[in-house]
Amino acid sequence: MTSGDMQRTNLLGLPRPQLTAFVAQLGSRPFRARQLMNWMYKRGTGSFADMTDLAKDFRTRLAAAAEVRAPEIVAVQNSADGTTKWLLRADASQAFEMVFIPEADRGTLCISSQVGCALDCSFCATAQQGFNRNLSTAEIVGQVWLACRELERAEATPRILAAHRGADGADPGGADERHVTNVVLMGMGEPLANFRNVVPALAILLDDFGFDLSRRRVTLSTSGLVPQIYKLAEETNVALAVSLHAPDDALRNELVPINRKHPIAELLQACWHYLDSRCGRSVTFEYVMLDGVNDSAAQARALARLLKGHPAKVNLIPFNPFPGTHYRRSPAPVIQRFRDELLQRGVLATIRRTRGDDIDAACGQLAGRVIDRTTVRLGSKTFGVAVQPQS
Ligand code: SAH
Repeated sequence: MTSGDMQRTNLLGLPRPQLTAFVAQLGSRPFRARQLMNWMYKRGTGSFADMTDLAKDFRTRLAAAAEVRAPEIVAVQNSADGTTKWLLRADASQAFEMVFIPEADRGTLCISSQVGCALDCSFCATAQQGFNRNLSTAEIVGQVWLACRELERAEATPRILAAHRGADGADPGGADERHVTNVVLMGMGEPLANFRNVVPALAILLDDFGFDLSRRRVTLSTSGLVPQIYKLAEETNVALAVSLHAPDDALRNELVPINRKHPIAELLQACWHYLDSRCGRSVTFEYVMLDGVNDSAAQARALARLLKGHPAKVNLIPFNPFPGTHYRRSPAPVIQRFRDELLQRGVLATIRRTRGDDIDAACGQLAGRVIDRTTVRLGSKTFGVAVQPQS
């Protein structure tokens, strides 16, 4: 990369109003912004030279002042169950991850909002690496742009498609959706701690001229930054997921330390406010199942008391262990009993299917191994992806 590149504006970071202003600065008319977005998001083109319905001199000015640059791929891993994980490069020493999960009726892309995380949840692999930096809007949107392009390419290239099959050559995802139909901000980082860059990214995901995703197909997951949930209600109406993980403050203080600042009662108020002001249907409460910690029948009943009568769904996530953790996953029958306790009390509950665990792509595992793997070789190039230790 030359220093000239550094000066260019990455158009993946500009929602429509900002792109329109940018185009105007280059002396062009507002509708050119929509044409540009059409090329970028509908056709997946990042090269101005290919945008043939734009005047040649405008394309030249664009090429001098702007770029469409997605994060670089450092490594790709394909799971036997069809899940794909990409290790992406933020800059020389920092990497973050993105995961695509194909299912029969949807293709879910799980994206990161930060490199590392400052929230320090005790059961989360990302927390162990500490906080490195916020991703920019262009890096957040760039993940979706890149995944769409890579999936498209895989579809068009039988050889690459084969790589998506299991190691045994089976094609478990034969009938699965291999396009991005849903985006979840459940990768690395706390999206609401990067509010400034996440909100414009959401706008591009929802914009008809952007990815044109319905608001119900974009989910922001938060550990519970209460003031930012109120602010979010003023800015967007995407689906909200909240990492609850405990039915009482004493336990939640331990698992999700931000609870000491914003306890459960305050958090729930913020959730109901979000739904009311955005005409949302329900909030999804994530609940990681930790053996002997938060998985008793009494705790299920306490959780049901908190949520009963509210527009809430509970998603039980079997804990995904990672090196160095002292937690264990609750046994399957315990998870089922917990779900049944909730269902019997009229609280909607589902158990999340664990995907991609053979490639450490499962929930909360992102980057867990990246820290150990200080160097990733890709062809002849070597990228250092050591992530700074937690201070
Ligand atoms: N910072 C956001 C996004 C985190 S990742 C948030 O806290 O919501 C998405 C979900 O995975 C969260 O509910 C998170 O608590 C959960 N999670 C983290 N580590 C996990 C692990 N090791 N096993 C299972 N789920 C985990």
